[in-house]
Amino acid sequence: MSDIIHLLPDSVANQIAAGEVIQRPASVLKELVENAIDAGASFIQIVIKDAGRTLIQVSDNGKGMSETDARMAFERHATSKIREASDLFALRTMGFRGEALASIAAVAQVEMRTRRQEDELGVAIEIAGTRVFKQETVQCETGTTFYVKNLFFNVPARRRFLKSDNVEKSHILTEFYRIVLVNPEIEFSFYDGEDELYRLPISNLKMRIDAVFGSSKKKIQQQLLNVETANGLVSIIGFIGKPEFAQKSAQQYFFVNGRYMRHPYFHKAVTLAYNQLIQTSDNPSYFIYFEVDPQSIDINIHPTKTEIKFENEQAVWSILSATVKEALGKFNVAPSIDFDREGAIEMPLNVNLDNVKPPQTNFNPDYNPFNSSYKRPSFDWEKLYGGFEKDAKVSPANVNFDTEITQKNVDTSTVEQLLIESEPEQHKMLLGDEFHSTNFQFKSRFIITSIKSGMLIIDQHRAHVRILFESYLKDIEHHTAHSQQLLFPEEMELNEHDLMHFQTIEEALKSVGFNFLHNEKNWIQINGIPALLNASGIISLLREMIESIQKTGSDTLQNLYEIIALSLAVSTAIKTGKQLSQEEMSDLIDRLFACENSNFTPDGKSIHTTISHSELLSKFG
Ligand code: ADP
Ligand code: MG
Repeated sequence: MSDIIHLLPDSVANQIAAGEVIQRPASVLKELVENAIDAGASFIQIVIKDAGRTLIQVSDNGKGMSETDARMAFERHATSKIREASDLFALRTMGFRGEALASIAAVAQVEMRTRRQEDELGVAIEIAGTRVFKQETVQCETGTTFYVKNLFFNVPARRRFLKSDNVEKSHILTEFYRIVLVNPEIEFSFYDGEDELYRLPISNLKMRIDAVFGSSKKKIQQQLLNVETANGLVSIIGFIGKPEFAQKSAQQYFFVNGRYMRHPYFHKAVTLAYNQLIQTSDNPSYFIYFEVDPQSIDINIHPTKTEIKFENEQAVWSILSATVKEALGKFNVAPSIDFDREGAIEMPLNVNLDNVKPPQTNFNPDYNPFNSSYKRPSFDWEKLYGGFEKDAKVSPANVNFDTEITQKNVDTSTVEQLLIESEPEQHKMLLGDEFHSTNFQFKSRFIITSIKSGMLIIDQHRAHVRILFESYLKDIEHHTAHSQQLLFPEEMELNEHDLMHFQTIEEALKSVGFNFLHNEKNWIQINGIPALLNASGIISLLREMIESIQKTGSDTLQNLYEIIALSLAVSTAIKTGKQLSQEEMSDLIDRLFACENSNFTPDGKSIHTTISHSELLSKFG
């Protein structure tokens, strides 16, 4: 076979986004490993020393280079991968600029050994600061090995600019992950000095992810859900983290046609699908692989940038969003609370269980009869509610419905009725027959109850919002709401704009029990309202809903339904400050844990938190 590397004509070279390719050791690693992949390697070994400062070594068993090509490879704009500008839109290789080796050789001492299968002998080249020091024929394995030594040896300013070893190493690993996660059919080995940090055998995507991020104890595979879809425009496969495994620092990867990419817009599609499923401060992990016609993307952005432009961004966004939502929908988010009540809070025998009063809180917490200079222990009750305070900025409504705003529409007597009409089946299922609940209400806001592993603390208002939200949503979907006719219908005038928004939700409102009559012009008569609502304040509630729909620009039916359901739920839920009976409390708990998602309110606030038994014990030394 003849030589394959050629210089790109200026006209083509000029159309390629150029730039400083080599910024740090990680960039060298990326370029060398990508070249090895383009060379068809099935095994790639990496060795770094001193976070890549003194050595970055990459060996592959790929196709190697001829003697002429070996020399040519270090020229600027020398590549075997594209010939003309139009090739840029049919790329199947990682590289195409013909810049990397030239750039590396300009700032480091490079040694390369390479041999093609058909050649008996290989060639070794030593080059530093673009000067070739040595070229000789040698005996070596098929494939290519690069040794890049003393990076920036001739650019002291750049060398000084490098960060600590740990930072540089983490940059290197970041590049390493971005490559290995999308090339499971290649075996990788990664040495940091003498230590083999990674040995990744040939496998499939899921096992590769596990090999990189899992551990023998923690199988990452069990934390992932499959996503998959394909149509004429795009095929998507991959994995998303189960909501319960979301955490502050998550693994988030997009790949397109075998290449890592950043895509803030698509990122949004994924994270939006997790709305209501995870706390807003947490992030879901995802590993999503797109395949599209290379003609429909432009990867010729700046060489060190990883953004990629899609021709049909909007459409791909919708497909991605639907696919992720479907995967999450199939997966039933079950509450992770254990309901074994052994060791339930022990009550003094002489207390009448039916008549438990909420604990009194007007004590002096600093008082200690044994010690006048007593300091309050560091155990801080307020801290327990830390989890409750994280406000969500998520949809559906993006409106911060919380306790105070919507006191007006509650008809508490009917709410109590609702609480008492619980389903005993669920009660039994969750708590066991023999269980007799003993719950405490604290500060008229929290319900404290005992669970197997410790103590469960529930925010009563938020719990009820979640319960009602799901029940309203079901009513909307199944058209099963109860309505109450108003003796004295209310009237509301809407301007053209509001009227338009009103019309988009009118049907949904009817399905939760509203009844409207369109009078002349922009006047709407409200004849019927959901059974639980209080008629007073109904107009402002409707206006709030119209406003939040306007604000969020929600266009999907599901979004509208969620806004309505949330708005009604917040209006009708029991409030902070309301004292609850034992029955009401246990009913609320039962119904909460029968919900699809009992962990967060629809707008992303924590509903409950636990203090484990051991945590509690540790407070007492
Ligand atoms: P590009 O990858 O953009 O073509 P590079 O400067 O990275 O530019 O590499 C120049 C050329 O050197 C490549 O086009 C390829 O032909 C050859 N080359 C580089 N690394 C290897 C390798 N590991 N095995 C075989 N050929 C290689
Ligand atoms: Mg390259």
